[in-house]
Amino acid sequence: MKITFVVSESHPYIKTGGLGDVVGSLPKYLKKENLDISLIIPFYKKIKEKNLNLEYVTDIEIKLNENFLNFKVLREKDNNDFNIYFLENDPLFLRDGIYNENNIDYKDNHLRFGSFSLASLKFVKDHIKSDIIHIHDWQTSFLSIYNKILNGYNFKTILTIHNLAYQGLFEKNSLNELSFPDYLYSIEYLEFYGKVNFLKGGIIFSDIITTVSPTYSKEIQKSEFGFGLDGVLKSNSYKIYGILNGIDYDYWNPEKDSYIYKNYNTLTFSDKLINKKFLYDELSLNFDINLPLYSMITRITDQKGIDLILNIFEKLMNENLYLIILGTGDKNYEDILNFYNEKYKDKYKFLNRFDEVLSHKIYASSDFFIMPSKFEPCGLSQMISLRYGTIPIVRSTGGLRDTIVEYNDRVNCGNGFVFYDYDGEDLYDAIKRSLILYRDKEKLHKVIKIGMNSDFSWERSVKEYIEIYKKLILI
Ligand code: ADP
Repeated sequence: MKITFVVSESHPYIKTGGLGDVVGSLPKYLKKENLDISLIIPFYKKIKEKNLNLEYVTDIEIKLNENFLNFKVLREKDNNDFNIYFLENDPLFLRDGIYNENNIDYKDNHLRFGSFSLASLKFVKDHIKSDIIHIHDWQTSFLSIYNKILNGYNFKTILTIHNLAYQGLFEKNSLNELSFPDYLYSIEYLEFYGKVNFLKGGIIFSDIITTVSPTYSKEIQKSEFGFGLDGVLKSNSYKIYGILNGIDYDYWNPEKDSYIYKNYNTLTFSDKLINKKFLYDELSLNFDINLPLYSMITRITDQKGIDLILNIFEKLMNENLYLIILGTGDKNYEDILNFYNEKYKDKYKFLNRFDEVLSHKIYASSDFFIMPSKFEPCGLSQMISLRYGTIPIVRSTGGLRDTIVEYNDRVNCGNGFVFYDYDGEDLYDAIKRSLILYRDKEKLHKVIKIGMNSDFSWERSVKEYIEIYKKLILI
């Protein structure tokens, strides 16, 4: 079976969050199951700067609203797992950001990702000739729409929704600029409260939709989590499937991870303390390694429950614990988190940047990882934490609900701490429960081991994807 992923980010080339992680690892595991995989991503400035070993493949020309646009197709020569194609168009993609700069979205994102989607579709038809095209989020939803309305295209398409909160909303004239017919501006198609919603188009025009956890696939069909698309999703529920993401167990592996200070496994996890010591030294923190370290590595946005942390911040700082937060995002939240850096410098550190290497060191050094998300399609950080022997404290929503079970000391099962209402006090109670566990080293070690021994690799989920692909071929 031949599958092409068309996507806006993929680790290790480019990543802003979970989407990049997932697309960077899922194809690898599909390849292991003997699927023929290709991946197409834009040739961003950050990728160009890596000076990869590339070969020229072809030029793709598309016509949008009477304008011709050219994409040069480059292939990475050093990737033997699968074919990675970069589509180069400098005016659109040679920019400092991926989707935005200084938190302001590029105004022409519809043109950037719309034209990229169309050029990818053309390239698949002329060159790759795959059975299925797998698209991701609004950025490549354009592809399914072109595929259904243009003559000569009839690929089977599958759309994975990684986060429904981002929908690709643009003004009405974006349809014209992308050569889409006017009839698409209607409630049955792409119109959405006076705007054009390209994710809605992806939902309607793709043959199958997947979301990244079973719980989230149900939640998005309800108004509380549907971001206005719950009705459309409900009427398309016959083609929606929830498949839990995995993490790349080769890459996220404390036993081999070259970014961390000292490698460890399920027998030697006490070496997390050594990691902690080096982390504190590196960050010039005068913290006691014998007290618990709580951490968050996250986009600093409403979704991630930053307001809950802020609600209980002063109380937390009165507890015998340390807190490190690594993240970027909403400026208002960043300012408050930065302000506390000075006020609580003996107990807390906010690192306001995106730093892949440091993130590994923090996962390896922490005792607990806090994820109080308002909603969470899947969440990878809780799985990474388990793998690194760091106990997650999560709100029960979406993929967090599908992966983390409250520790029960009577029966000795569970892999973390869970709270339910979106409420700071409930989060605080969960943290208090974790502090009690921390004092009982025997039990603490049991929970760490349960987490490190659990399996959230791709092996299982990949089989579910293959079933879906088979189904799609038969449609
Ligand atoms: P989302 O995709 O909603 O941002 P996930 O939990 O699915 O959340 O994935 C987040 C991924 O991004 C994880 O790999 C996490 O370690 C990483 N990440 C988030 N913020 C940062 C940061 N500031 N620096 C490094 N990695 C980060």
